[in-house]
Amino acid sequence: MGRIVPVSLAILGLAIAAFVRPSLVASAPSSSSAEVGQSTGTHTALDEADGVIPDGVAVSVFDEGLPAVGKLDPDLLDALRRAATDAEPDGVGLRVNSGWRSAEYQQQLLQDAVVEYGSQEEAARWVATAETSAHVSGEAVDIGPFDAAAWLSEHGAAYGLCQTYSNESWHYELRPDAVDDGCPPMYADPTEDPRMQP
Ligand SMILES: [Zn+2]
Repeated sequence: MGRIVPVSLAILGLAIAAFVRPSLVASAPSSSSAEVGQSTGTHTALDEADGVIPDGVAVSVFDEGLPAVGKLDPDLLDALRRAATDAEPDGVGLRVNSGWRSAEYQQQLLQDAVVEYGSQEEAARWVATAETSAHVSGEAVDIGPFDAAAWLSEHGAAYGLCQTYSNESWHYELRPDAVDDGCPPMYADPTEDPRMQP
């Protein structure tokens, strides 16, 4: 390490600054984030109270102590619990990968998606704003693992549980009419959903 000359250190410092900067921007109130509705309060770390589910933690639809589950729409939660109970004898365990989210958490996910996908337009194909997200209103749930989502795609309509978007095999919402009529056609992705329009 003693061989690194000061110029190299300066370049390294610039590289680190460039790397760190997006997270600083994301945590600071700015005019660009205000237009998608971020609160201008001080940023605090997101936690379970925001609906965050820690990585690697298997959460069942009966874990109502977790806000991600407990703050879901009661009718959606009831349907999920009936489905989960019926899936169990098939050897399938429904898990909640994401459920209710605070507006702050949704905003953070959207900002992360803009960084990941490189533009606001591409990010909108995958992540809604805090104003439009069905997760923020407690009306959507992301189900895993893969076999559980597959079980729901086959049996979910009987409980009014329907996949909303073709590109999100895990995202389910309650469509009570599906019990009699089957699930409505999916949108290709969220940009086709009229609810996502500003
Ligand atoms: Zn979702």
